[in-house]
Amino acid sequence: MNFDITEEQKMMQQTARQIGERFGLDYWRQKDAAKEYPSEIWQAICDAGIAGMMVPPEHGGLGLGLVDLALCIEELCRAGAGATLSQMFMLNPVFGGVAIALYGTEAMKRDCLPGLCDGTCTFSMALTEPDAGTNSLAMKTQARKVAGGWEISGQKIWITGVAASKKMLIVARSQPVSEKRTRGISLFMVDTAREGITHTPLDKVGTNTLPSSVVYLDKVFAADSEVIGTVDAGWPQLLDILNCERIVTTAGLVGGGGLAIRLGVDYARDRKVFGDRAIGSYQSLQFPLAQHWAELELARLMNLKAASNFDRGLPFGTESNAAKLIASQAASGAAERAMQVMGGMGYSKDFHVERLWRDARLFRFAPVSEEMILNYISTVNLGLPRSY
Ligand SMILES: Cc1cc2nc3c(=O)[nH]c(=O)nc-3n(C[C@H](O)[C@H](O)[C@H](O)COP(=O)(O)OP(=O)(O)OC[C@H]3O[C@@H](n4cnc5c(N)ncnc54)[C@H](O)[C@@H]3O)c2cc1C
Repeated sequence: MNFDITEEQKMMQQTARQIGERFGLDYWRQKDAAKEYPSEIWQAICDAGIAGMMVPPEHGGLGLGLVDLALCIEELCRAGAGATLSQMFMLNPVFGGVAIALYGTEAMKRDCLPGLCDGTCTFSMALTEPDAGTNSLAMKTQARKVAGGWEISGQKIWITGVAASKKMLIVARSQPVSEKRTRGISLFMVDTAREGITHTPLDKVGTNTLPSSVVYLDKVFAADSEVIGTVDAGWPQLLDILNCERIVTTAGLVGGGGLAIRLGVDYARDRKVFGDRAIGSYQSLQFPLAQHWAELELARLMNLKAASNFDRGLPFGTESNAAKLIASQAASGAAERAMQVMGGMGYSKDFHVERLWRDARLFRFAPVSEEMILNYISTVNLGLPRSY
């Protein structure tokens, strides 16, 4: 067991931190208020090679691993973005990069991976449906076999970044539900601008720089060459992709939670209301922040273990889910407590914590809810019967 970070990784962390600091808190405050896609920082991330970090060199990337990427995401989110920036890594290096690298055809790799690396190709992922929700296998979106490809029809909800994406990973049922519900699911990588795809943004609490939309799929044609993975056997392949999504999410929560704690601590050091003692000297303000700091550090270790397992081809589902469970609770708790520490100023847009508070709350139920992670641990790790 080796917990050391290499010199190369330290340099990558430094590069990520510098980019994060160059944009900083005010950039994110302004983007959040304007509900604008953070294209400038994403371009800087691409230019530094971070978006394509895991992409093989022959397709324009650095050929590094998920541990390296997680270390960079932590720094980028800690430097000012908060956890929402991790969503851009879910969409692009994971739903685009990991999906194509693991399950895409050679032609898809040639077409999409260089664009992922340089920022000219962006991605979204459409799994969730209004009536199915957490019970994804109850999806109604159908892919019907036609000459040369598939015709996809259905409705998706909460699809993030769709308006800014060039490609969308669509999950659909290619066979009617059978006794084995996980059979008959297929994955498709299609152009978002394709005929039959329309979308409408939802009004939401936070993560405003990345709109989430209802997506309507009306007889969308996907060529056979746009299938990702194995027809009808896409479900386990999707789970591999989604478990990587958890790792990227957790890295963002570790960074975003750390940022909230820093803002709370900086404020508490200076603010005096009873005489000369700063409010940061009160244990009632210190302890909750210290508690969340400890939780974030533990989630980080488990997350890096998950990422290392992924890089070494070992199972990583338990580690990635457990880390995400604790990180999401700790990061939203940290933002909540940082706001409490700041009193009224925590509620002001000028002090940034309110954005972190709104954004962090999302990750307790998305991309996977804490209840579903506890269900997973109960059945897979504790061996208890499934409750639903
Ligand atoms: C801002 C945002 C962005 C998103 N981005 C995307 C995206 O890009 N692509 C995509 O496909 N999806 C996306 N999602 C969807 C997200 O993954 C789902 O919202 C999430 O999986 C929960 O589904 P639901 O909202 O339908 O909740 P529901 O399924 O209705 O669940 C409601 C509550 O019941 C609990 N619950 C349900 N079943 C059980 C059970 N068996 N045991 C215990 N508790 C249970 C849940 O944990 C939750 O707390 C996004 C969601 C949001 C809010």
